[in-house]
Amino acid sequence: MRQAAKPGPRVSASNLARYIGRVFDCVVVGAGFAGLAAAVELSGRGKDVVVLEARDRIGGRVATYEHEGTMIEVGGQWISPGHDSMHELVEAAGVELIGPQEGALLIRSQGGVYRSSAAPDRSHALTPFEMADLGQGMLRFRRLAQRVESDRSWAAANASWLGQPLGRWVKANLRTPAAQQDFSAVLASVSDGMAGDVSLGRALTTTVQGTDLESLFAVSGGLKLRRVMGGMHQLVDHLAAKLDDRVKLGQIVTRIDHGPDGVTVCTEAADGTSSGSYRARRVLVTLPPWLALRLEYNPPLPSWREEVLHRNTAGHVIKAFVLYPTPWWREQGLSGQMSADEGSVRVTFDISEQSGPGIMMGFFEGAEAASMSKRSRTIRELAFIDSLAAVFGEEVRQPHDYLDYDWAADKYTRGCHTPHFAPGVWSVNGQLLAEPVDAIHFAGSEYVGKNNGYLEGAVRSGREEAKVIWRELG
Ligand SMILES: Cc1cc2nc3c(=O)[nH]c(=O)nc-3n(C[C@H](O)[C@H](O)[C@H](O)COP(=O)(O)OP(=O)(O)OC[C@H]3O[C@@H](n4cnc5c(N)ncnc54)[C@H](O)[C@@H]3O)c2cc1C
Repeated sequence: MRQAAKPGPRVSASNLARYIGRVFDCVVVGAGFAGLAAAVELSGRGKDVVVLEARDRIGGRVATYEHEGTMIEVGGQWISPGHDSMHELVEAAGVELIGPQEGALLIRSQGGVYRSSAAPDRSHALTPFEMADLGQGMLRFRRLAQRVESDRSWAAANASWLGQPLGRWVKANLRTPAAQQDFSAVLASVSDGMAGDVSLGRALTTTVQGTDLESLFAVSGGLKLRRVMGGMHQLVDHLAAKLDDRVKLGQIVTRIDHGPDGVTVCTEAADGTSSGSYRARRVLVTLPPWLALRLEYNPPLPSWREEVLHRNTAGHVIKAFVLYPTPWWREQGLSGQMSADEGSVRVTFDISEQSGPGIMMGFFEGAEAASMSKRSRTIRELAFIDSLAAVFGEEVRQPHDYLDYDWAADKYTRGCHTPHFAPGVWSVNGQLLAEPVDAIHFAGSEYVGKNNGYLEGAVRSGREEAKVIWRELG
């Protein structure tokens, strides 16, 4: 696979000399969305900024690769309603968004495969209030399903209440008609279209227990995801274009010497041929917490700071793709989306462009990803194809190409896509994650209270911390 994102300028030993003696207002560590958004914000406010990026490309956990003329998004891809900063970027970059492929979704649940006959009305996006309503409803439903399963005597004592029509429960527990409609339609698809007649008890015990409810809503389009036509690298390039030669690639930050008045950021060149240092009044570290912890800090970070970084570990995801000459499933009225309660790959999306090959994308996640990352690519390909065959049928075995990307094996990411907070970390001292220490500030998708783990969170966090730094610099 060839990288589509345009590499920015590289710093060489000769132009490194230009920086000796120069004191920047701010060094930004990392050229992902958070780092680029922060640097654009600071330089737009007249501050002297430099961005140091370890890789030979910008974008971090967003990467568009070109495979035989087709753009493949190996990292972050989907933009949701309410992700306002991302929508602003899309508009500013002049690119277009496309929604999930139309058509029926397939659901594998408790040994059966169901074709969604009652897909939610996708003519409008859910508003944030409707989304919150849907989320509340899902939470209540899941808790109830767990109670019915774990507490048989409670279920027996409440048998007549559990016998009420599912529709009545939905109306009583979800407030907005749009959320009620999406909720009922997805449940209808897993109860073989019988939602009108099915009882609450039956819906809880026989249809949803085996299936991850969140996945069902994700693949149903209920969350109204959109992706950038032609690739996310266009948004990355749009940000980087505002920074000219202020982005330095191949600069691995290894150590930060710091005090109240400023910092010295030490780097090694990726090819090991040279090292350098950058002095600045502030530094903004935009590495995920598990990587920020690996830098050397002199003096060391206070123990409270190390503790919050330590208690924030990475997830594990392998993003995988099966490419066919055409998106053949569309001819069968299928969207290419599936949700399964079994198999190595449990959720898929059709991410084909308007012309070109048919591309089925899916994830190996969590323990499955950890185990699969130790296997060969051929084994992962077989596992993906078997998961697809169990839902779409033997047609998936026709000649195809297979690609995947293991983010945990990438030394400048080492895990994704969202952090796992240890119990109590977020609720008790999560906000401490974004607290500065001396002149060191932190930003990125893991450090933000809203849209944590998403592209939107990364951009917001970068911009907001840049404003804090700008105010401090005066
Ligand atoms: C497979 C996958 C799918 C995803 N899907 C979605 C999605 O659909 N929608 C969504 O909203 N989000 C998604 N995400 C999450 C989203 O991509 C991230 O939240 C976001 O890109 C993080 O941006 P960031 O700038 O905070 O961090 P990063 O993008 O991780 O940026 C950190 C940067 O620091 C650099 N770096 C690391 N170490 C050093 C060092 N020592 N010195 C210098 N530089 C260093 C890295 O190379 C990187 O460029 C997905 C992520 C993955 C991996």
